[in-house]
Amino acid sequence: MGPPGAGKGTQAERIAERFGIPAISTGAIFRANVKGQTELGKQVEAIMASGGYVPDELTNALVRDRLAQDDCVPGFLLDGYPRTVGQLHTLDEHLAQTGRQIDVALELVVDEDQMVARLLARAADQGRADDTEEVIRERMAIYRAQTAPLTEIYSEQGKLRQLDGMGGVDEITGRIADALNDVRS
Ligand code: AMP
Repeated sequence: MGPPGAGKGTQAERIAERFGIPAISTGAIFRANVKGQTELGKQVEAIMASGGYVPDELTNALVRDRLAQDDCVPGFLLDGYPRTVGQLHTLDEHLAQTGRQIDVALELVVDEDQMVARLLARAADQGRADDTEEVIRERMAIYRAQTAPLTEIYSEQGKLRQLDGMGGVDEITGRIADALNDVRS
């Protein structure tokens, strides 16, 4: 977990490789669908461009299908999901039905103003439609209102690990790996 720009996608890929499990990024899956102009892509394109959240039913169904694939058997890492309280509960129920559970929720704690600056730089670089300043502010506000409260639920479940998300990419990967090894041992 962590607000837009916290580096979740980059870190998820690195950690997944290190631990030999898939990184499942709902944002990346949605973006690929928009790019390919699939039915799902057409449904979510305008929502994503405005910085809003895709409806829970669509997102939950997508993750449910992805978690049923063979490569998730040894474990998996979710990036950008769950993002709402409803998604969290649906995920917990689904995993319980399949005899699994979330072991740990990692939150990258970062400075929001620096995240906005980072996202604006990325916009210039990659030209993502959801990286204009107005949309970035909207995404931050939605994160605070709808996603930040999930940390409290994971904390109550005893699963939350908060990490300093500021610093070099390698340094942060090291912190995350240490936290995960700690949970495993
Ligand atoms: P991300 O790359 O994780 O920042 O996601 C980019 C965009 O995809 C978000 O701003 C949402 O529009 C959409 N999205 C990704 N994950 C979710 C989710 N779990 N629930 C709803 N919308 C999502």
